[in-house]
Amino acid sequence: SLTAGVVAVQGDVEEHAAAIERAATAHGREVTVHEIRDAGIVPDCDLLAMPGGESTTISRLLHSDGIAPEIEAHVDAGKPLLATCAGLIVASSDAGDDRVDELGLLDVSVERNAFGRQKDSFEAPLEVTGLDEPYPAVFIRAPAIESVGDAEVLATWDDRPVAVRDGPVVGTAFHPELTPDSRIHGLAFFENEATVVPGLEDPA
Ligand code: GLN
Repeated sequence: SLTAGVVAVQGDVEEHAAAIERAATAHGREVTVHEIRDAGIVPDCDLLAMPGGESTTISRLLHSDGIAPEIEAHVDAGKPLLATCAGLIVASSDAGDDRVDELGLLDVSVERNAFGRQKDSFEAPLEVTGLDEPYPAVFIRAPAIESVGDAEVLATWDDRPVAVRDGPVVGTAFHPELTPDSRIHGLAFFENEATVVPGLEDPA
């Protein structure tokens, strides 16, 4: 059985855990999901999700609790990380906000709360590289991806990148954990050939 971690210092944790379980089932894998609030758990995880929430809070707690360097080591080892919304902001190389100490795991710069009209949430059918059918993407005070360095754009909305991949790291401006459709988790964890996942020598 695989070991998954959901960064749980703040944000929508349970939804990610459930989405990971659905994606694993869809790929014929068993998974045990741990919520990460302290250092020492990430090194045992085969795959990680970093949820939405409030990025300055998540950033502060990840660094003060000693979890940040463990996430960096996880990605350095080629293990997959799915970073969504506030998680994307924290994983980016430039969040445009001094209160966010970026992990620099995704070569993109972002602007917080920039997508669409402020405060607005909306759902959009996204064409995503690697998925056959459009993905119902829920945006909640989403960050805009302002520039993309050495990363692949997987989806755009309104001519702007909203899903990107940088090796083992997939980042989305939207919330793939909030719909029953677990295909984004599937892409990030079980179908990304840039990752090292036990038992997944030949990703689909
Ligand atoms: N607005 C949040 C932030 O900038 C992110 C939004 C979200 O994760 N739903 O931290």
